[in-house]
Amino acid sequence: MEFGYNSEIFIFTEIKKILMNKIEHIGIAVKNIDDSNELFSKLFGKPQYKTEAVESEGVKTSFFKVGNNKIELLEATNEDSPIAKFLNRKGEGVHHIAFDVDDIEVEVKRLKKEGFIVLNDIPKKGADNKLVVFLHPKTTNGVLIELCQEIILNE
Ligand code: ZN
Repeated sequence: MEFGYNSEIFIFTEIKKILMNKIEHIGIAVKNIDDSNELFSKLFGKPQYKTEAVESEGVKTSFFKVGNNKIELLEATNEDSPIAKFLNRKGEGVHHIAFDVDDIEVEVKRLKKEGFIVLNDIPKKGADNKLVVFLHPKTTNGVLIELCQEIILNE
């Protein structure tokens, strides 16, 4: 057995730090969030744990927890909202899949290098205390991908 500096292990841990950790949540576009909160409360047997409006995105959101997983419902608050456009084009349904990342800026750089189109180069504040970046669905087989990184507040 050899001892000493092992460059393979070093590279592995470096890469591991920046990859996507897990599905953070699945986003579902709905026409009326009050109706859908009721519906999904029945489905899961418990109510949403949080509701939040994101003015900059023109959306109202609510979050449900199912085991370790989260479901986000999104309703448009104006006609220019991406959710309004999605509903007009496709109707209600799965809107995006969000992945948790440790360092969103490093991840954006990596994905751009791989040829993915990033919708917002600069991470923006999303719902649920997250910095978010979206990838264009045309480079991800029609699936809108959200990257999100928890905002850690220094107290
Ligand atoms: Zn989301």
